[in-house]
Amino acid sequence: MNHAPVFIDTHAHLAMSQFDRDREAAIARAQAAGVARIVEIGYDLPSSRAAVALAEGHPAIYAVVGLQPNHIHEAPPDYLEQVRALAAHPRVVAIGEIGLDYYWMRAPAATQEEVFRAQIALARELGLPVVIHSRDAQADTLRILADAARGHPGVMHAFSGDWSYAQACLDLGFMLSFTGTLTYAKATALHQVARQAPLHMLLTETDSPYLSPNPYRGQRNEPAYVRLVAERLAALRDEPLDHVAAQVWANAQRLFRSCE
Ligand SMILES: [Zn+2]
Repeated sequence: MNHAPVFIDTHAHLAMSQFDRDREAAIARAQAAGVARIVEIGYDLPSSRAAVALAEGHPAIYAVVGLQPNHIHEAPPDYLEQVRALAAHPRVVAIGEIGLDYYWMRAPAATQEEVFRAQIALARELGLPVVIHSRDAQADTLRILADAARGHPGVMHAFSGDWSYAQACLDLGFMLSFTGTLTYAKATALHQVARQAPLHMLLTETDSPYLSPNPYRGQRNEPAYVRLVAERLAALRDEPLDHVAAQVWANAQRLFRSCE
């Protein structure tokens, strides 16, 4: 039997307008490239609803719902109830993306923390893992996760820290997910993380339409390109691609329990 490697894009935003022209074609290209699963991530209420709708229309797509820190300032007061209602859908596999963003700082840090903690508590209540967005906020992210989510399943999406930050996340039980930035020659700290972290804690993603891998850097990203992330991960670890792809697939299954 011949098993071609099968890939998973654990973080995409196909509902964004960048895909309005060719969304279905992009999904078809992903499947043709061996990307058998795509996890569509919400960042506000409309995109969370869109993620559920995409998952309903495509057996290969699962949904994640939640409020990303750059969108909490525009969320209605009953946002948590709305996220809870969306999360009841059987194709929702996690709460996310949630976290802290001190680069854009669109809401005060205290508000970001309050909304982050509220959504972690919701994930715990619902028995769903969490997808974490953290930008320029490593210390506070670790403090909040250690306090509110230690041992709760989750993933550091678009991981971009050094080995010591990676170790701290792994110590809390969080997986690390790599994007196209892993393919950049100058990302040496990230390469070190990819080599040293245990394979059973690693995931691959595109964060489409952002963070395209080489040779597509600067262009719109799409789920088909997650294969390039997996290839780079395998090369950095000096392990066969099919082994790495199979383990990443198993990791995603373990994290997103209903995401087979
Ligand atoms: Zn994202």
